[in-house]
Amino acid sequence: MPHRQNKPRSAQDDSLLTNLGKVLLDLPVGILLHRGEQLLHVNAAAIELTGISRQDLDCGVSILALIHPNSRQAFQKHLENLPQEKGQPPVPLECQCQGPDLGGPWVEVVTRTTRLGDETVFVTMLRDISPYKEEEERIRRQANYDSLTQLPNRTLFMDRLNQEMIRALRMKSRVALMFIDLDRFKWVNDNLGHGAGDELLRQTAKRLLGCHRKSDTVARLGGDEFTVILPDMAKGPFAERVANQVLQELARAFILEGQEVFISGSVGVTVFPDDANNLEDLLHNADTAMYRAKTSGRNAYCFFTPHMHAEAQARMELEKDLHHAIERKQMTLHYQPIIELATSRLIGAEALLRWIHPKRGFIPPDLFIRLAEETGLIGPVTDWMLTTACRKAQLWRQRLPDFFLSANLACTRCRELSTDNRIPGILKETGLPPTALVLEITENILGEDEEKAMAMLAQLRHLGVSLWLDDFGTGQSSLSTLKKLPVTGVKVDRLFLPQGNNESEAVLVKAIMGMAKSLNRIVIGEGVETPDQMHFLKNLGCDLAQGYYFGKPVHAEDFEEIYGLTGK
Ligand code: C2E
Ligand code: CA
Ligand code: CA
Repeated sequence: MPHRQNKPRSAQDDSLLTNLGKVLLDLPVGILLHRGEQLLHVNAAAIELTGISRQDLDCGVSILALIHPNSRQAFQKHLENLPQEKGQPPVPLECQCQGPDLGGPWVEVVTRTTRLGDETVFVTMLRDISPYKEEEERIRRQANYDSLTQLPNRTLFMDRLNQEMIRALRMKSRVALMFIDLDRFKWVNDNLGHGAGDELLRQTAKRLLGCHRKSDTVARLGGDEFTVILPDMAKGPFAERVANQVLQELARAFILEGQEVFISGSVGVTVFPDDANNLEDLLHNADTAMYRAKTSGRNAYCFFTPHMHAEAQARMELEKDLHHAIERKQMTLHYQPIIELATSRLIGAEALLRWIHPKRGFIPPDLFIRLAEETGLIGPVTDWMLTTACRKAQLWRQRLPDFFLSANLACTRCRELSTDNRIPGILKETGLPPTALVLEITENILGEDEEKAMAMLAQLRHLGVSLWLDDFGTGQSSLSTLKKLPVTGVKVDRLFLPQGNNESEAVLVKAIMGMAKSLNRIVIGEGVETPDQMHFLKNLGCDLAQGYYFGKPVHAEDFEEIYGLTGK
């Protein structure tokens, strides 16, 4: 509603104004003539800028009615603080005009006082600065917002987080910080192209905005990393609820390039000031928690705990030590015999990595191999393992000409191998024929880039290297995976061996065996610990077996001694 002034215009005002109006009429800047806040006259340019109607003018509307509510206080101050001394330049003010629907243009306002008859009135000049303002806004957005998703970027996010932390301290409230990482973004980018990747990020931004309150900040930190600041975190499982909602949103199908794509997210949550008292630590915590969610199997959320911090620290230490483990000769290999069931004779060995840490002692291979995969150290570790083991096996073949070596190939390493072509080099260097090498792979080798993995496996088979599918039955093993993979053998996990006379387990192994045989794959039973288990496998027609019953993994020297493989 326009503000109304009570004081009516006098006849004298009108005649003076008519004369003045003629002068002001054609000026390109908006001119407002007013007595205090009471508008006396406006020129055509001012009418256009402010959108005021002649009718309102005649009713003696207040000048404040032309100013946007957000700018009114500043405008009043501007009038109150006009320079008192003559010759002092007026101080301009930037404010927004009310306009229709509160969307008036931005103007620069300069006010001077002048004499009108025997009284002092104000002349306020308005210069349209909307184009500059728009440019300013564009630059501000560029500096603070991500152009792809229109979400606040890292700069603005840091600023907001800082402000929320200060506010939380003052209000004695809590702020939750959430890091969200997409689980299959790389896959989308690699397989559907960057256009689809961009679209995925845009759709993710929209879905995340849908999960949050107005007061929350959803930002994109870069890549596929999003973050949410939840200020005034309510008591109870509020952040859990939001995290769950985020996961649900990300688990719904995305339509990219006309096809349904399922990705998921990993969410890490940390709370200020409970978990950290400064910004840097808080960010670090959220990242640690997110990482934990990712390694716990993805599509999960995880709250930061101090324990995690200690773990992350230990992990970093271990990672550092792993870098030097080979050169410091802390890595060794153990060999476990593989037996041909029909003849009970030694036919090969599986090489198993051991890392004896100078302070922490024995580190389980599952643990450090995962670490090596995540840090890219798996390359040099595998190369060392294969070179050492192939050399040994070739030596043992002098005694046992059909002896073969079986070695585990980590998924990430396998994918890399296609580009660096290391295996032929290692075979040449050590003299081991390709047919005397078995590489054990797991079904997650297909991972995100199935085509590349399949090409690599085909290349290995072409070389003459055998491939076994390890740990069969523990993952989402299926007949179709087995059919698809160019493997020559299947290792049945020890989980499937009967622990007594359990018929149901026997049925499972029989089924796996039948499946493998029908596809022309040999079957290797692993984890055989008792004579019963050995007989069970033998009776079913299992080809090879491995386990403590035949021999535990041991050092090369012990292996040579036990099986009489030294010398010619
Ligand atoms: P895996 O390939 O399934 O290796 C078999 C694991 O079962 C070995 O554990 C072995 O010591 C153990 N084992 C063998 N016989 C028996 C038995 O009768 N009973 C029981 N309870 N266990 C038995 P290990 O050496 O701790 O290796 C664990 C995993 O670490 C391996 O599982 C493999 O996935 C990985 N690993 C080991 N060495 C390497 C390597 O050089 N490269 C890669 N990529 N992974 C490796
Ligand atoms: Ca294995
Ligand atoms: Ca296994």
